[in-house]
Amino acid sequence: MSAAAGLPAQLQVFERGWLSSNNILLVGRDETALVDTGYATHSGQTLALVEAGLGGRPLDRVLNTHLHSDHCGGNAALQQRYPMARTLIPPGEADLVRSWDEDALSFRATGQQCPRFRFDGLLVPGQYVVLGDLAWQVHAAPGHDPHSIVLFEPGSRTLVSADALWENGFGIVFPELAGEPSFDEVAATLDLIEALEPVCVIPGHGSVFNEVAEALSLARRRLEALSRDPVKHARHALKVLVKFKLLEVQAASADEWKAWVRSTPYLDAIRARFFASSSLDGLSAEVLAELVKAGAAFADELQVRNK
Ligand SMILES: [Zn+2]
Repeated sequence: MSAAAGLPAQLQVFERGWLSSNNILLVGRDETALVDTGYATHSGQTLALVEAGLGGRPLDRVLNTHLHSDHCGGNAALQQRYPMARTLIPPGEADLVRSWDEDALSFRATGQQCPRFRFDGLLVPGQYVVLGDLAWQVHAAPGHDPHSIVLFEPGSRTLVSADALWENGFGIVFPELAGEPSFDEVAATLDLIEALEPVCVIPGHGSVFNEVAEALSLARRRLEALSRDPVKHARHALKVLVKFKLLEVQAASADEWKAWVRSTPYLDAIRARFFASSSLDGLSAEVLAELVKAGAAFADELQVRNK
């Protein structure tokens, strides 16, 4: 649990490691809620954290800031454990969730897992949602994900920033990788955050922080560098996707690894757009070699391992 200055007492932050986003548990007088649910393979740990935090109360609501597998991968397990809980998601991909369109949702394309879940309502930008007895503003926060929202509670000036702002940057700008210019949306979302004047930020990954001005200026510097060099951004994205999978599987035979690379359409889409002269096997081997060089992975002809 994090203990940065100024967090409302009815709020607990479970700071998670790689693969899972942070989870925020709000325990109010009449209702309890969890914002973001981590990755599927960590759902046992998520359930244990939530159960301990609830202190015998049921979970009434599950919310997602956006529908990436590390933010909604625990939804299904929570719905099973707490069948009465209502699940609220941002509106942008609601139809895709309703029909569970795995080709259009990001999970299959990125080679990640997310068990099917249902939703019962929407988090509509411009509206309020009461969580932990506090009224939170819902704001659209496109950039990292075109459909993401952030939550702001004006009394305590607490912001749930998802992957729009971390203490050391922000999440990959996924739409850019698909050829949809979105660096400007990242900038506009940073402006929105600045205008809200939060004093405490709960990011999707990493520790809760109060040094908001420093985080914003670091994010803007990073954004400027990425806008100048989109290929660098694409290479970074490949590295993150490969590292994510490596952390999930821990170890794979070289053949299994190649099979994953080939069955993950997103990797080839990035290759085609930014590295057209490279083959997919060649490019993924290069990215893996960079991770090995950085001490993050081990690879030889027979196997690939997380280090
Ligand atoms: Zn994300």
